[in-house]
Amino acid sequence: MAEVIIAVDGPAGSGKSSVSKAAARELGFGYLDTGAGYRAFAIHKSNFPDLELAQLIQNFDYSISIDPDNELVMLSGVDVTAEIRTAAVSEAVSFVAKEQLVRNLQLQDARKRITDCPNRGIIVEGRDITTVVAPEAILKVLLTASPSVRLERRGLDKTEPAGNILKRDLSDGQIVDFITPGEGVSLLDTTEMDFQSSIAALVKMIRDVNK
Ligand code: C5P
Repeated sequence: MAEVIIAVDGPAGSGKSSVSKAAARELGFGYLDTGAGYRAFAIHKSNFPDLELAQLIQNFDYSISIDPDNELVMLSGVDVTAEIRTAAVSEAVSFVAKEQLVRNLQLQDARKRITDCPNRGIIVEGRDITTVVAPEAILKVLLTASPSVRLERRGLDKTEPAGNILKRDLSDGQIVDFITPGEGVSLLDTTEMDFQSSIAALVKMIRDVNK
């Protein structure tokens, strides 16, 4: 099990995935993108539109690598690393993320991957990591940016139509409050930072708690 757990939450388009991944690379840590599991579940659901949720959960055959240099997401033996980023999946994902049974499944999955991580440390990133998945983390960060900057960042990486991001924020915000940092959670507001300074800021926070 990773000895050092770093929990990073944040809204869509904040850059938390790319910043967390780069910081993990720099530190030699594992990196777990928990959103990928929700995205893969949305594909799974669309592959079997007639199955009940309980059956879908039972048949969910999912894996994700925790190597920040080699992103690989597999669903039922098929590589869906690219497909999970499509606009159709981004559109559908918040809907499945509302289901408590799906959240429980993803919670178990994330905890198992943290336990099995062979690296000294792991950065776990998502919407509910600081509160639900790993509240015991040595460092808990809410990584955010202003709505206009988040729209601009997603526009630049072209993975999702800008309009969908705010819609997803609203929908996700009903499940998890990811705007206000909870107790013991440090805010990393990257509104005024470029990519490199955001990575440097997160790496510094991690080094500071882990001297
Ligand atoms: O992080 P990403 O944008 O890939 O997450 C996709 C969606 O998965 C989010 O919009 C949210 O609905 C859901 N999610 C979640 N809890 C997490 C990670 C993702 O509800 N820990």
